[in-house]
Amino acid sequence: MHELSIAAAVVESAQDTARRHGASSVEAVRLRVGELSGVVADALRFSFEVVTEGTVLAGAELVVEEVPARARCTACALEFAPGTPPRLWCPECGEGATELVAGRELEIVDVTLPLAGASCRGGSAPQGERQEGAA
Ligand SMILES: [Zn+2]
Repeated sequence: MHELSIAAAVVESAQDTARRHGASSVEAVRLRVGELSGVVADALRFSFEVVTEGTVLAGAELVVEEVPARARCTACALEFAPGTPPRLWCPECGEGATELVAGRELEIVDVTLPLAGASCRGGSAPQGERQEGAA
């Protein structure tokens, strides 16, 4: 199951974060999941519960931020929502040379630790590219 291996990678990364901060538990893990990442949020939440059992993440909340897909036409620079399933040709000029600028994210946004509400941004994402801060 796809989501199970993703959950395992997320948990591993969050455990590292907890360890670095000397935390014995984790309150929440926030994930950014693109519309086209192929991840089913509900399946991921279920997998997360299974994988966190017996770890420092037991009982942690998995917060999933869904990112809508966005494509950009390389000919006229129009940005549009490709929808699901994605139509990656430009609705303005019909150009097929478009690039997906958002929607494939699969990354940890932050891990919330119980101590003084400390939060650690970032960490390594299981896969996908970071879009944050992109102009
Ligand atoms: Zn175009």
